[in-house]
Amino acid sequence: MTAMYDYVKPALIFFLVIIAAGIAGGFLAADRGRRVVGWCLLCALFPPLLLLLYFARPLREVEGMFRKCLKCGGLIKWRSTVCKFCKSEVTE
Ligand SMILES: [Zn+2]
Repeated sequence: MTAMYDYVKPALIFFLVIIAAGIAGGFLAADRGRRVVGWCLLCALFPPLLLLLYFARPLREVEGMFRKCLKCGGLIKWRSTVCKFCKSEVTE
């Protein structure tokens, strides 16, 4: 009984870490306009990918997160007023 308990507990923690990594990956992917399900699975299988995803640049405009500069097409933060790539002013 005790042996069973000792085995189950670390497995449960491992399982929870995988779930948490998957969910975190899904949210990060959504914020960056990437495929949520794919990144969710990748981060669950290989949690260090979360770091890569965290620093990854967005692929497209994401409402409230990133938008496209009209002059150079670079993706900048939603609230930025100056494009960090071409330094031109960004207006709504
Ligand atoms: Zn620009």
